[in-house]
Amino acid sequence: MAVIVQRPKGTQDVTPSQVYKWHTVEKIVKDTAEQFGFKEIRIPTFEETGLFVRSVGDTTDVVQKEMYTVSAKGDATFTLRPEGTAGTIRAMLENGVMNEGFPQKVFYILSCFRHEKPQSGRLREFHQFGCEMAGTASPSADADIIALAKSVIDRAGLKNIELNINSIGCPECRKNYHKALKEYFESSKNELCETCLGRLEKNPMRILDCKSPICSEIASKAPVILDYLCDDCKEHFEALQENLTAMDIEFKINPKIVRGLDYYTRTVFEFVTTDIGAQGTVCGGGRYDGLIETLGGQSVPALGFGMGLERLILTMEKQGCEFLMPETCDIYIAAMDKDAQKKCVSLVKALREEGYRAEYDLVGRGLKAQMKYADKIGAKFSMVLGSNELENDSAKLKNMKTGETVDITLGSSFVDCFSNELINLMFATEELL
Ligand code: ATP
Ligand code: MG
Repeated sequence: MAVIVQRPKGTQDVTPSQVYKWHTVEKIVKDTAEQFGFKEIRIPTFEETGLFVRSVGDTTDVVQKEMYTVSAKGDATFTLRPEGTAGTIRAMLENGVMNEGFPQKVFYILSCFRHEKPQSGRLREFHQFGCEMAGTASPSADADIIALAKSVIDRAGLKNIELNINSIGCPECRKNYHKALKEYFESSKNELCETCLGRLEKNPMRILDCKSPICSEIASKAPVILDYLCDDCKEHFEALQENLTAMDIEFKINPKIVRGLDYYTRTVFEFVTTDIGAQGTVCGGGRYDGLIETLGGQSVPALGFGMGLERLILTMEKQGCEFLMPETCDIYIAAMDKDAQKKCVSLVKALREEGYRAEYDLVGRGLKAQMKYADKIGAKFSMVLGSNELENDSAKLKNMKTGETVDITLGSSFVDCFSNELINLMFATEELL
């Protein structure tokens, strides 16, 4: 059907027949985060633009090219959040969460907006599950947050996902590194894209993250930060590796990861798959020890990650992972005439009050069409009411899978009797499994 207005490029609809996949991953991430001691936080969809410029960084792709910024009637300018960390830290500071003892551990499931070129695994509105931990500089915290992301990936049933880790040091070790990078890129200055030319003076590390083929070719031979780490950062990175090994988590050191947001310090990591094409980073994160102070708080070390839920679901689909099947209707009660319909309404009401999924005809269809509908919605049981059933106060309850029927009273014990039949069915199904 031709609709008059179509959805914007780079956005997705989730139809009722597909939403169980989202419910599955939302359940996995929520259960896992809570098991690791993280509590949910909810934040606004838009923030003052300055929040992202300060935290994500004014030389990043996100701020320079990808933000959706709006202003309404002379207000300050606002930006639809391109990621979850900045707003979360802002909210924790604004609501005094940081005063409630350390470490503070929060998680979120939210939509993000970036003006990027839409393609498989890259959308303009996408969803992230993210975790943030504030108030610890210990490498065991880095390992624990990586373990959380890994646990989500394992529970989703994913295989072939590689964990890449790196350390991008602290502002101290970066001084020498920036100098070395600048010298290196100066020699290919004429070939760099215009954005990177500007980055050369201000923040040469950002050139390493440029998506242009020429810049990334030049960047591939640039000096790596691991060779410039100070003793403290080196020690932190080694301790992280020991912790990961103790947790039996396999990893690869990838000195090329720098991450696309400016606020990272020391540990950075990515979980990557080759199964969904070029956009294979399912999860990315790291430590951001300077961010809280930048946003007006005290100097509190922190870390976190963001996991792209579209990419997670895409990988699960590609790998044939299992999703939780949606619950279907427990009972459909069909009616043959007006009196039966009245009885039908009162039985369905009683069933729903006890928590059962009960449905009946709302369209005015004939019996045959009602039964067809019961089949289509996957009803576990069905029942037909007509004048005979009303007279005898009893009807046949039909198991829709096996076709077996039992007589069931329509009197005051109806809901209890139905409940017993449903329990029997559940046991029978479990035995089959
Ligand atoms: P990429 O290098 O793929 O652009 P990124 O470094 O920009 O990723 P982050 O800012 O770290 O990504 O966001 C964390 C996660 O969010 C990514 O690992 C990815 O799974 C997901 N993500 C980021 N941008 C998009 C997008 N445009 N569409 C879908 N998912 C995305
Ligand atoms: Mg990106």
